[in-house]
Amino acid sequence: MAKILLVSNDDNTVNSLQKMLSSYEVISACDETLINDILKVENPDIVVIDCDIKLEELKPLYRQIKKAHVIIMLLLGENPINKEFLNRADLFVTKPAKKDILIASIEASLKNRNSIVKLFNSNQELARSLYQLNVLYNTSSQLAGTLDKDKLLTIINEGIEKSLSNALSCTLIFRTPDEPVLIINSLYNISDELLEALKIRTVLNYKSSDRVEYQNISPDNLKVEKNIKFNVKEYDFAILRYSSLFDTIYINDEFFGFIEIYREAPYTTDDKTCFQTLVQQGTLPLQSAILHQTLKENNRELEKLERLKSEFISIVSHELRTPLTAIKNSLDIILSGKAGEMTKPMENFVHMAKRNSERLSLIINDLLDLSKIEAGQMDFKFAHTTIEPVITDVINSLSAMAKDKDINLKYVSGGDDVEIYADASRLEQVLTNLVSNAIKFTPKGDITISTKVLDAGEITYNECFASEMKDLKGKYLTVCVEDKGIGIEEKDLIHVFDKFSQIERSTQREVGGTGLGLSIAKQLMEVHDGVIWCDSVINEGSKFYFAVPVANEVRTFYLQKKQLLQKARANNSTLLIFKINSDKENLERLANEEEIKNSNYLNNSLIEQTDDGYVLTALIQGGDKPSAEFIKKRIEEIIKRNKTSYGECDIILSYKVEGEANEENSYSR
Ligand code: ADP
Repeated sequence: MAKILLVSNDDNTVNSLQKMLSSYEVISACDETLINDILKVENPDIVVIDCDIKLEELKPLYRQIKKAHVIIMLLLGENPINKEFLNRADLFVTKPAKKDILIASIEASLKNRNSIVKLFNSNQELARSLYQLNVLYNTSSQLAGTLDKDKLLTIINEGIEKSLSNALSCTLIFRTPDEPVLIINSLYNISDELLEALKIRTVLNYKSSDRVEYQNISPDNLKVEKNIKFNVKEYDFAILRYSSLFDTIYINDEFFGFIEIYREAPYTTDDKTCFQTLVQQGTLPLQSAILHQTLKENNRELEKLERLKSEFISIVSHELRTPLTAIKNSLDIILSGKAGEMTKPMENFVHMAKRNSERLSLIINDLLDLSKIEAGQMDFKFAHTTIEPVITDVINSLSAMAKDKDINLKYVSGGDDVEIYADASRLEQVLTNLVSNAIKFTPKGDITISTKVLDAGEITYNECFASEMKDLKGKYLTVCVEDKGIGIEEKDLIHVFDKFSQIERSTQREVGGTGLGLSIAKQLMEVHDGVIWCDSVINEGSKFYFAVPVANEVRTFYLQKKQLLQKARANNSTLLIFKINSDKENLERLANEEEIKNSNYLNNSLIEQTDDGYVLTALIQGGDKPSAEFIKKRIEEIIKRNKTSYGECDIILSYKVEGEANEENSYSR
């Protein structure tokens, strides 16, 4: 039955209206105090106001019914009507009112009002669902952006909090089977007693779930991580009487954790669906995060093993070098005759021992080189240079060896003035290996060294090197060493760059060698972002090529960064590079040309996500030649700023000052 509040101080009006409206529940009030008291306990559907009542009396009435859907009906009398009355009213009936008209108007308004209320409610529902959908959408895009388990849990919890406005959430996870952690996100602080109760509840919840993977959980070993939003008041036991929702996260059918949320207002079925959707949405990214972490750990383990292996080789090689030098010296003394006369057979044996000790010494040096490169511990001195002095030096140092075999070393230049960014001594090592191999494996005939500048697409190669060549882009300086020697069978071509590869041919044993030279050359090329390959026809001769990128800003920056990144990895630290007096456009261009994925800009810095952290390239602008002091200060600022945005950016390894080529400055704090 609709409820009507009749506001009038005229008894006649009140009486006659009460009679007319006997089919409704009618309450009457004649002054402000009464109106006030009634509204405290009653919610009228309609307020009928006699226009003759004083305006002040109605103030509390208007104040209270402002937001509710109450119909205001005015009874108009003889007196002029106040404008405010007119503005607020929904219906008008003149006095004395006629019963039929009065009831018809009331019924029509009630019907209208009910439709409006329904519309209003569904509108509100719609707005809420829209908001929840929005949160779901935002949460899922955030979830896609990280592979960090803890961050994912935070995103899920934030999503739940935003869409369901909960007061408290308790998330249980196991960092390791022995480390159960209870993450509490709460609007207000929580009392010690409540904390204990929550711990017990969590353990009981877990133990009563049908799957109990981890046995080692008790309130005593449950680690608590609290995130309190406002420290102004404290929740107590009362919160346990709040409504709550609970869901378990299983990953690959195994328990991962559970979330329980509490809030004062009851949860609807829609809320429950939203909660479950949010939790489920997080499952897949969590699964990927766990997989990623396992892969990363395995990778680290492998890298560690690889480093240990290299270190082992390096230590053993060092240890071998000293006694070997002593052996060689002793053999030299014996051969010089200072230790006494030798018979001819004795002399032959000592010569053989000398040759073998020299070969051993070569192997040890190669092994040392290889282990250093593999462990990222070889020092490179990159600089802008040209290939011409490298070739001249190699020809000078190997011409005697060639002459011994009646071989001419020819040089055909086709790009020796083009600038490359390289370590000249390492290029010399590569070329020396190629030319000395050519000499070794050429019984007779000349050897030609030629250079050319080619676009990646113009480089020709044997198909078996296709995978090595597929990533080449831009211009390259190519160097070719061509011989007319014994050649290599097609099936063996790809293997000559493997470690310890020596192709089984009779000549092989005669010429000796370690089988490491070409694999070292390959590694050295990789460091230069270059490539090495060969082609050959058996019994006709071989062509060995290498190519290094022609220098330009992008290549140089990339190579500098690669070097620094390797050092950072070896030291387990995050790399920060500083470009002095560059600008954002330049940095963006570098990143685009380098095709850096997973990168974004923040505060004038380019942040690239790598497998093991971040590379941050920050800009420092400071006039023509900023002082060291200035740079240091700016670096401090940038580190501080990025530490808050990227927790991982905590170690600075070194910085490069652009424009001061090859000057690498170390900076540690
Ligand atoms: P090594 O110290 O044995 O020369 P390398 O790694 O330099 O080691 O070479 C590996 C193998 O590749 C050689 O043992 C040889 O069989 C083959 N090889 C390299 N260069 C040539 C060449 N110019 N002609 C024929 N075979 C070659």
